[in-house]
Order: sequence, then structure tokens, then C-alpha cells
Amino acid sequence: MNHKLGGYGEKIGLKKIMHMAHSIRPEAIIEFSEWVTTKTLLKGKPFSFEKHEYQQQILDDTSSRMCVRKSVQLGVSEILVRKFLAFLAMYQGTQGIYTFPTSEEVGQFVKTRVDPVITECTKIEELGFNVDNVKIKQIGKSFAHFRGSFGERETIAIPSDFNVHDEIDFSKPNIQNLYRSRMEHSEYAFEISCSTPTISMFGVDELFMASSQNYWHIKCPHCNFWQYLIWWPTKDREKDSNIRSLNGIWDVEKGDWAYVCKKCGKQIGYDPFLVPMQWVTKYSGKSITGYSLNALVGWGYKKAGAIVKSFFEYKEIEKAYNRILGLPYTAPGKKVTRAQIFKCMDNKLKDESTGRQCFMGADQAVPLVIIGNLTEAGKIRIVHFERIEKNVFDQVGKDGRIIKGRLGELMEEYDVLAAVIDAQPNTESATQFAKNFAGRAWTCFYSDKQFEKMHWKDNLSVVSNRNRTIETAMQYWLDRKVEIFSQDNYNLPIYERFIENISSLTKVVDEDKDGRKTARWLTPKGCDFAHVWNYLCMALEAEVSTVSRIMTPGISGFSMKRYNT
Ligand SMILES: [Zn+2]
Repeated sequence: MNHKLGGYGEKIGLKKIMHMAHSIRPEAIIEFSEWVTTKTLLKGKPFSFEKHEYQQQILDDTSSRMCVRKSVQLGVSEILVRKFLAFLAMYQGTQGIYTFPTSEEVGQFVKTRVDPVITECTKIEELGFNVDNVKIKQIGKSFAHFRGSFGERETIAIPSDFNVHDEIDFSKPNIQNLYRSRMEHSEYAFEISCSTPTISMFGVDELFMASSQNYWHIKCPHCNFWQYLIWWPTKDREKDSNIRSLNGIWDVEKGDWAYVCKKCGKQIGYDPFLVPMQWVTKYSGKSITGYSLNALVGWGYKKAGAIVKSFFEYKEIEKAYNRILGLPYTAPGKKVTRAQIFKCMDNKLKDESTGRQCFMGADQAVPLVIIGNLTEAGKIRIVHFERIEKNVFDQVGKDGRIIKGRLGELMEEYDVLAAVIDAQPNTESATQFAKNFAGRAWTCFYSDKQFEKMHWKDNLSVVSNRNRTIETAMQYWLDRKVEIFSQDNYNLPIYERFIENISSLTKVVDEDKDGRKTARWLTPKGCDFAHVWNYLCMALEAEVSTVSRIMTPGISGFSMKRYNT
């Protein structure tokens, strides 16, 4: 067979070959899917792939590194936990580590998804098991360890043969790297990372883009066209979609939604005998095997109209893309407009000369500063901003006495909990300032090589990804999560400059030949207040070890919640 599939140029039947390189073939070991269907139950019935055919290859795939980028409610966690337990049961004497974002989620997952599988499995019963401990399960001579990425006192220091990382986009960044060294001496060393995606080129999306990229394909019984199942939520992309409205009304409620062939447009129903289905690999020869799943892979048990409806039930479009289409979301060309800044203004607020529990962002080349605190509603309230007219940092005067710098004064006047200041051009003075306020002040360097949003290097500096931090900082304005005093009683030229700077940033979206979109914020020269605002937003995310002990828990509503303990 030599025809192309869905435009990917891959041949049918590749999946068998694909597996040979990484296969584990010890004797008397059966395929994971066979083990799972013959030895485990789901809701009291034998586990089956009926209407869930896409699950089988993910179970049987023995690639040493795998990633699954998925939408919600497709039973992916159900199969990953079974694969994990099947491995430990078949390969006696091994150990595995399974991580979740937080320790609370681990507890919940183990109780509701793991323990029932273990207690209902006759094979595990035969091997002997112990489920009393939430974090460690014994299966014969093997051990399963469950951990949260946040909220744990320590990472696990045991050797491992099989690591599964669920919901990596919500876990500590690069959680996989943290545990990979545990598998150094394993002859198996399997690693699976899975998540609902969030933003592009982060977490699971970054892994998937570097992977072999498997998509779930079906063959149209009318025109024999192989295609991957997808639906795009706009009328103008209807011809690229496997869900269309048969009555021509493109409306959630009034549309007569049905599954169709992308090419001939005829209606197709789930029928494994009439409509062949299989995973098709986009890129061969990759070290990571990736699977992408959207709600349509569940077309055997999800009605087309129900998928459309569930998409539009999300208030935030990015969540609908992430959770229904299993795709990262990139908003088209956005900017914070002047009108949006005005909407955040409150006539009752004033420019304050002092403050409590504030955060500060500052630039030194153009000496600007913004100070704000967090309201009980979780908004950033700007209490003060200024152009510094005296010395920014402490100086030694002609008489040998120290002339206090303005930033140091502001730290005290506003009871600043965390400050981020530009590290350049006076790096030495800035570093000295950070030392003077150790644990409360950091110098910031932007770096293109910094992939994570921020890396708090030590108690003195933070390295940031410009694009990703600005994305967060601008989102506060777009979401109206900022409160600011009005222009009336303030130095108008500076206020005007503030508005102009914040509204001068534009988000552009680059599209590559595969139609993949990535966002980039254009920061024109002289938009200094926008950077100062970005530093302030970074300060809000300063290491919680320092900040949380001072802050009252109720108002630490921003990034602090990712460190929840
Ligand atoms: Zn067709």
C-alpha cells in the first residue's frame, strides 16, 4: 500500500515496525492490552476497548519515552494506571513512580482510580498486595509510588523502572527531568508524560511537537479517504471538520450536528466493521512517541452535537480548546487598549504615599517604578507609580555619608514583600540592592534560552522568558484584574506615558506551514512602563518560601496557589 493518509505521507501498517526497536520481549510476558482486558475490571465489568479502540495502542506501545496530549474524559488516566500496574505485576521486583500535580490530587486519584483496580484484580490478588498506604502500594515483589509535584516534603529517592507523569502542564515544570535520573540503572526505563495542554510549546505540547505525532485516523466508507478526526469551532473551517451541521444552520442549539467525511462530506457513523480506524504516525524516527487525542476519538460514545455543545459551554475559549479539542490555545492579535485601562480605573482610589504588603517592579535605565498590592478579590491594585527623580540606588556623598536611594526608601514606605528590578545597566548596584533586601528583592534578566516562564536562580536574581511573562502580565489587564486610581489627581504627563506604554504592546501570532500558531509580544522601544509592570507581576510570583510566610493565605490568590500545600 502506497497511498497517502490524510496528507501525512505515512503508510498503513507502520505501527508494528515502529515498535520493534523499543520492544521488551521477555518470555511469558503478555501484551499490556491483553493483561488489562483479561485481568482488570472497570465499573465491575471486564475492561474492554469497545468504542475506545484508540486506547489499545497507547497501552501496548513500549516506546521508552511517550507523551499523550489529550482532551478530557477519554479514559486516558484509566489506561495509564492499568499499564503501570500491569508492568509492575508482570515484571516482578520492579518499582514505579506515578506523579500528579499536587499531593491532594494524588490522594484522590489513588483512592478512586488505583485502589479499585488493585483490589478487583485477580492476578494482583494472587501475587499479594498491600493498599493500606496511600503513597506506596506493594504488588507482589514490586512497588508503586504515588507522589504530588507540589505539596510534598521531598521527592522520592528510590530507583525506578517506570515513571508516569499525569497532568504535567499543571505540575512543577519539567517534572519528568526531576525523576528521570531515578531510572538510570533500570533495564526498562519507561517514561510516560500526559496532560491536557494549556499554552503552545509548554509542557505536553512541547513534548508532543518534538514527538512522532500520532493522530487517530478513520477511513471514509464512501470515498476511502483516510483522515484524522477533528472539528474546528468556526463556520469558515467547516470543510476541514468531521462535524458539520446537516441542516446548514451553524448554531449550537439549532444545528443538526453529525459526523461526516472531511473530503466527500457524506455522513459517517461509528462502526468498526465499516469504518476502519487506526493511529497514523506523522514523523518517524523520533525518540519520543506522541499521541494527540481530542473529543472526536470518542465518537463511538459521544454524539457530535454533544461535543459542539460542550465546547461552547466553556466561558473561556482557551479552556474549550484545551479540554475539548486537546489543543493549546493561542489568542489572535491582541493588545491592551486604552479603553481597557480606563475600565480598570476607580475614582474612589488615590495615589497612596505609603502602603502595606506591597509588590514592586522597577526599571533603572529609565528610572520608573510601579507599586501594587493584592486585593481580597485577587486583583492587583496599583497604589503608586512614579518616575524617580533622585538617585535610584544608595550613593556615597562627597562628605562620605550615604545618600539613600529612592528604591530603598520605597521598599520601606510601602512595606514591599517582593520586588523585581531590571538587572541592567548598573548590575552591580542592582545586585547590591538585592543583597540589602535579601529574600525580598531580585534583579531580572530576560533570556531567550529561558524556556520556563521564570527561574528564580537564588535569593538575588530571576531569569525570565520575556514572551511568557509578558503574556501573564498583559492578561491581568485583559481580564480586568487590575485596579488603579484615576488620572484626575495625578501628574498627567506621567499617567499618559503609563497608558501609552502599556497599550503599545501587540501580540502577534506566527503561523508555520502546518498551520501551527505561536504567539509573540512585540515590545516597541520606549515602552518602559510595560516592562516595569511585567517586573511587578513577576514579583507577585516570587518564591513562596519567602513570601507566603508573610502573606495572609486568603489574598495569595495569584500564582501562589500553584505552590499550595
Ligand atoms: Zn468520504
